[in-house]
Amino acid sequence: MPARSTLITLTWLLTLGLASLLIAGTTYELTCTNKACKHIASLSLGGGRAFAEASGYCSKCANFTSIQWKRGTPEPDPIKVWNPATGDTLTLHKCPKCTTPFIVIPKIEDVRRCPKCNQPGLQAKPGIMFD
Ligand SMILES: [Zn+2]
Ligand SMILES: [Zn+2]
Repeated sequence: MPARSTLITLTWLLTLGLASLLIAGTTYELTCTNKACKHIASLSLGGGRAFAEASGYCSKCANFTSIQWKRGTPEPDPIKVWNPATGDTLTLHKCPKCTTPFIVIPKIEDVRRCPKCNQPGLQAKPGIMFD
């Protein structure tokens, strides 16, 4: 077994090295832990080196969606909405497929509920994204 663990360590180091060179954003695989649901979805956050990205959930398409724009250029038409219940300001964008507004997800910790069954207990597994 020592040979195998060395291989895994090397692969892991290589992945980390490549990751720091190439990634700006992260793609998450989301799995619902609710046994009756087990919904799986993927969500990418943060964009890449060349492009910025705002992601969210489109309730009409019933899927995660995102808009992208070139880094260094202004974010295209962000809609700012103030929530009087929390004092937070949310950013909305229009789904590129159906134009329904979606709330921008700033970080993966802000995805707390499964979009399918609306229950808490969504697990996020980060992957790597290249551009
Ligand atoms: Zn949509
Ligand atoms: Zn679910």
